[in-house]
Amino acid sequence: MASLARLATIEVGQVKGLGGKRSKGLADVGIGTVADLLHHVPRRYIDRSRKEPISRVPIGSEVTIIGKVVSVRDRRPRRNLHIIEATIEDDSARIKSVWFNQSYLVRQLQNADEVALSGVVENFRGSLQMKAPAVDVLSGDAEGLTVGRVVPVHPGAGGVSPGYLRRAIHNALGRARPIEDAIPPELLAANGLMDRDRAFEAIHFPETLEDVAPARKRLVYDELFRLELALAMQKRHQMESSVGISHETDGDLASRFLEGLPYELTGAQERVLTEIDRDLKARHPMHRLLQGEVGSGKTVVAVATLFRGIEGGWQGALMAPTEVLAEQHYLGVRGLLADAGLSPALGDSHLGMDSLFSEQPEGPAVHVALLTGSTASANYNPDIGRAALAGDIAAGQVDLVVGTHALIQEGVSFSRLGVAVVDEQHRFGVAQRVLLREKADVAEPDLLIMTATPIPRTLSMTLYGDLDVSIIDEMPPGRTPVTTKLMSKVEERAAWKTIADEVEKGRQAFVVCPLVDDSPKIEAASATAEHERLAALMPELRVGLIHGQLRPADKEQVMAGFRAGEIDVLVSTTVIEVGIDVPNATVMVIEDAQRFGLSQLHQLRGRVGRGEHPGACILLADPTTDEGEERLAAMVGTNDGFRLAEEDLRIRGQGTVFGTRQSGMKDLKLADILADFELLTVARRDAFALVDSDPTLRSHPELRDEVAAMLGDEVEWLFVS
Ligand code: ADP
Ligand code: MG
Repeated sequence: MASLARLATIEVGQVKGLGGKRSKGLADVGIGTVADLLHHVPRRYIDRSRKEPISRVPIGSEVTIIGKVVSVRDRRPRRNLHIIEATIEDDSARIKSVWFNQSYLVRQLQNADEVALSGVVENFRGSLQMKAPAVDVLSGDAEGLTVGRVVPVHPGAGGVSPGYLRRAIHNALGRARPIEDAIPPELLAANGLMDRDRAFEAIHFPETLEDVAPARKRLVYDELFRLELALAMQKRHQMESSVGISHETDGDLASRFLEGLPYELTGAQERVLTEIDRDLKARHPMHRLLQGEVGSGKTVVAVATLFRGIEGGWQGALMAPTEVLAEQHYLGVRGLLADAGLSPALGDSHLGMDSLFSEQPEGPAVHVALLTGSTASANYNPDIGRAALAGDIAAGQVDLVVGTHALIQEGVSFSRLGVAVVDEQHRFGVAQRVLLREKADVAEPDLLIMTATPIPRTLSMTLYGDLDVSIIDEMPPGRTPVTTKLMSKVEERAAWKTIADEVEKGRQAFVVCPLVDDSPKIEAASATAEHERLAALMPELRVGLIHGQLRPADKEQVMAGFRAGEIDVLVSTTVIEVGIDVPNATVMVIEDAQRFGLSQLHQLRGRVGRGEHPGACILLADPTTDEGEERLAAMVGTNDGFRLAEEDLRIRGQGTVFGTRQSGMKDLKLADILADFELLTVARRDAFALVDSDPTLRSHPELRDEVAAMLGDEVEWLFVS
């Protein structure tokens, strides 16, 4: 009887047939132990009972035929071209098959007598032919693994062929079985899951194809359950090991702020604020992800959250991913303060001569400052320098600091940081969270992470599984959805006409220039050229330019000009991707839109339609790939960010998504978080309930060992007592 935890300590090299070079190749692709090997499951199965006799294969459809190799030939009609031809026969007929430049097949086919070919059958000059079918060698094994009704096809890995892996896994299973079951039996019963030992047997070597699905379900559940257990324990650990702040949220700063707003909060904003309040009052630090579409009103919620902390005497920090955004947030917060009567109106100066005679106007009730790599400013002293401001922050003179992530990275020290809000989480990783935690000398600040990139629920349950999630799923009233159109580059004149028409009506427009190979320099140059071209094309309009290579002060000047309506058309690179809020801008033209990712396109589009006037987004694009076409079609088809995010996940696959978060969380081997979403929900519920009743899994030692062994390094610290 072997446990998975034990099998995770045995190297694949120990398996018969996998010594030496093979074990190294496998280890390189993440199959280092016997447990890993057992999770390397077949990609497909060949069902002998469903094979087509060659004489009756339907032309034009995908089939699998099984037969003997009659002949193999490697022709070289010219340099760099190999044509491999093989003839296969079964009891009914013969068929020819051809491959190009796959010379390695020659030996495989010569040594095999029985093969399965999967592909499309064509009629080629009057005879049947398969072009480049997938080849599975069936014969040549002493164990008789390929004569049963169902033959598993394990994907080749690390230079080891499918046939070889089939035999090795058979050996490994034979030695390892029976495999111990660490999952509590009541959970298996409740979820109708089969026995683990049988599941391993059935997924690798099923008797019939019908055995595969329940086996897979069982193993996928196990994988997701282990992941969710780790997340639940991590969350628990965070809660118990860190000292947070019980904010007293009964001051009147936040409520005065909210009452002073010129509009009512939406139901969703109210609900989210209640969720946040609960966290703020609680003793353990908040780790909450706030999701909401662009324009759904996250900023107001964030500011109210910060004020809750400030009214109890703590400092707040609001962090944005770029300087432009930080500056905009700073202006936004000042505007909100003025709206709520908590600060002198923007631009007011109380230093003039008049002040000697009139009553001294009150200073701002909340001291807000902006601190970025290049700018320092404060609402109680616009001319403050960086050093003075840093001193004020350290002395506790500043209530709220707005800045870039550099705020926590560049040794700014707070006297009592109580609440931190991070905008646009996808650039704020786990490492930054750790840094933030280190900022705290007394107690760990509460953390709210805002994102307008809708994260599919599948991901918020896995990648972000240790965060609590609040969702603003309602837009402020009176928004009109943005209409999106796809146009070919040759129709661009129509796009410029749309812009001219909108400007005629007093509106403004964005033109987003193509991404250039990850090079901000080249990107800036191409935006500059495009700006010139468009300025010449639309001589009657005021065309401005902004890109990442401008000095921050110049960037801010351009943005200020655009906000003030002094620029009609703003040509820009993706620096405007996040957060820019200019309600009078109603059209956006995105050039070469096929080069952008789906979530980026959606972010960009969110810059228009933010005011009372309907917005339009024109995608100028000539997609050259299916994937590009799918993305653009999705953009035209929906404005729903969550649907787009799921679509994106579907198009790109989960691997790339997992790769983008430096969480160290290993890729899932079996589960597909989109297809297995229901099982994920169940596994998460079960795991969190179990950790609630047994926080360190003390009464489930086998399970504890299994999680530690299977998730490896990333969770090791969970188990140091
Ligand atoms: P987000 O940060 O989610 O993209 P913002 O907080 O910037 O959205 O809000 C977008 C716009 O909507 C802002 O101009 C803001 O003043 C306005 N707004 C926010 N909440 C409401 C509301 N409840 N009713 C009306 N307008 C609102
Ligand atoms: Mg925002």
